[in-house]
Amino acid sequence: MNGLMMHRPLLVSSLLTHAARHHGRQEIVSRRAEGDLHRYTFGDLAVRSRKLAQALESLGVQPGTRVATLAWNGYRHLELYYAVSGSGAVLHTLNPRLHPDQLEWIVADAEDTALFFDLTFLPVIEELAPRLTGVRHFVLMSDRDHLPVGSGALLAYEDLLEAQNGNYEWPELDENTASSLCYTSGTTGNPKGVLYSHRSTVLHSFAVALPDSIGLSARDSVLPIVPMFHVNAWGLPYAACMVGAKVVFPGPDLDGGALYRLQETEQVTVSASVPTVWQGQLEYAERQQLRFTTLQRAVIGGAACPPAMLRDLQETHGVTVVHGWGMTETSPFGTASVLKSTHLQARPEERYAVQGKQGRCVFGMDLKIIDDSGRELPWDGVSAGHVMAQGLWVMSQYFGRTDQDPLVDGWFPTGDIATIDADGFMQITDRSKDVIKSGGEWISSIDIENIAIGHPDIVTAACIGVRHPKWDERPLLVAVRKSGAAISAEELLTHFTDKVAKWWIPDGVVFADSIPTGATGKILKSPLREQFQDYLIE
Ligand code: ADP
Repeated sequence: MNGLMMHRPLLVSSLLTHAARHHGRQEIVSRRAEGDLHRYTFGDLAVRSRKLAQALESLGVQPGTRVATLAWNGYRHLELYYAVSGSGAVLHTLNPRLHPDQLEWIVADAEDTALFFDLTFLPVIEELAPRLTGVRHFVLMSDRDHLPVGSGALLAYEDLLEAQNGNYEWPELDENTASSLCYTSGTTGNPKGVLYSHRSTVLHSFAVALPDSIGLSARDSVLPIVPMFHVNAWGLPYAACMVGAKVVFPGPDLDGGALYRLQETEQVTVSASVPTVWQGQLEYAERQQLRFTTLQRAVIGGAACPPAMLRDLQETHGVTVVHGWGMTETSPFGTASVLKSTHLQARPEERYAVQGKQGRCVFGMDLKIIDDSGRELPWDGVSAGHVMAQGLWVMSQYFGRTDQDPLVDGWFPTGDIATIDADGFMQITDRSKDVIKSGGEWISSIDIENIAIGHPDIVTAACIGVRHPKWDERPLLVAVRKSGAAISAEELLTHFTDKVAKWWIPDGVVFADSIPTGATGKILKSPLREQFQDYLIE
C-alpha cells in the first residue's frame, strides 16, 4: 500500500520560489567584476531569474541544452544557477584557471551552446571564441556600456533581461532531470564531467544545511569564497536559498585583506574556502593585529586543514572550524568534522585531533574503506584503506561515458586513502596516486606536510615518494621557507622527532621558492615527483 502524501518533485527552481516567498527581503551582496558592491534581495533574484529564463528561451536554449559560465561568485552567476537549471537546461560552470586548450576541450565535450562570462574574461573569450564552434551565443555578464567597441555578435546580459517582462512559470520537471555539469580538475588524464540532477542538488542542500555539517540557517550571513565554478561553491548557492541565509559574494578579489574587510562589513557568520585562501586571511589578520569579530564558523575543505590553522582560527579568533571532505563526484559534500556529544568534555588537544580529521557522514552519504583485495577494513582509526562512497548525491556515471561503469559493487572509488574511527570520523592519509610506500608500508604524506607547515619558518610543503634502492620509495619533503627564514634541512627534520614514527621522517628536504598548484589551487605533486624522482639515488 502506498502512502497518501503529495508528490512534489525536488527541483532547483523550488529553492528559489521558497526563498522569494519566505525570505524575500533577505539580502544578497556581491563584489562585482566591475569593481563596485551590489546589493539586492532574494525577491529581486527571483524576478531577474525568471526574466533570464525567458531570455534563454528567446535565444533558443532548449531543455537539456548545456549553458556554460565563466564567472566569479556574484549575483548574476546566481541568477544563471537558477534560470538555466530551473528552465530545464543544464548549467555548466567552467573553471577560468584552466588553460585555454583545456577550456576548448571541455566546452566541446559538454557541447555548450551558449557561454555567459564576466568582464574579467573578455580577453580569454576574444582569444577562444573562434575555436568554440558549437557556441552560438556569447553573453557578457554586464551592461551595454561594458561591451567592447565593435564587439559584433556579443550580447550584454542586462540587455537580455531588459527585453523580458518576468511572466514566466518554472516548468514542473521530473526531479531526475539534469541540472548542472561540473568537470573534475583532470589531475589524472582528461577532465570528466559529473552531471548533477535536480533531486541530488536539493538533497545535497538539505545535507549542507544540517547542524552536523555547515549548519546554515536564516540567521547566517554566508560568504562562499570557494568559487561557484568549483563544484557549485560546495552547494552554498542552493543551500542559502533553502534556509534564507544572507549571501555575500566576493567577486574576483580573493586577497586576504579584501576578504577580511568584506567579512567584517557584511557581518559574515560562515565563510567557506580552501586552506590556502584561509591562510591569506589569517596572515593578513596577524599582520594587522586584527580579529574576526562576526565570524562563527570557518568551513575548510578541498585539501587537508593544517592543525596549525585549526588552532589559530579557534584559539586566536574564537571561530569554530568545520573541516570537510568531498569531491566533484560527491556533489561535493562527503563528510564534516563536527564533534559528537562524547567529545565535548575532552581536552582541547583531543578535540582538535578529532576536528582535524576530515569528519563523518550525515544521513544520505555512506563511506567504507577497503584493502587492495576489496575486503572491508575495520573502523579502528588505524587501518588505512581505499575510501568508497555511496549516497543520494554521489555520481553513478560520468557524462558522455555511460558505456562505462566507474562503480565497484555499487560504490564509487574516491581515489583517497583513509582511516575511519569508531565514531565514524574519516581521516585522509593520502590520495592513492600520492601514496608513499616505503618497504611495502604506507607513509601519510598529509601527516608529514602538516607537521612541516606547523613549523613557524615554513609557509607550505609537499611530501612525495621518491625512488630508493633499498625501500623502493622514501619520503622527500619539498618546503617553502617564510621570507627571511634561514632554517636548515637538518633543523626542519629535527622538528619531526617524537611527532611521527622514526621511519616516517623524510630522507631529505629540498627548499623551493614555490610549489606547483593546479587549477583548483591544490598542490600538484606529479611535477615534483618527476623532478626529484632520483634525488636519493644520485
Ligand atoms: P580533483 O579530484 O580533480 O582534485 P576535486 O576538487 O573533486 O577534484 O577534489 C577532490 C579531492 O580533494 C578529494 O578526493 C581529496 O583527495 C581532496 N580533498 C578534498 N577535501 C579534502 C580534505 N579536507 N582533506 C584532504 N583532502 C581533501
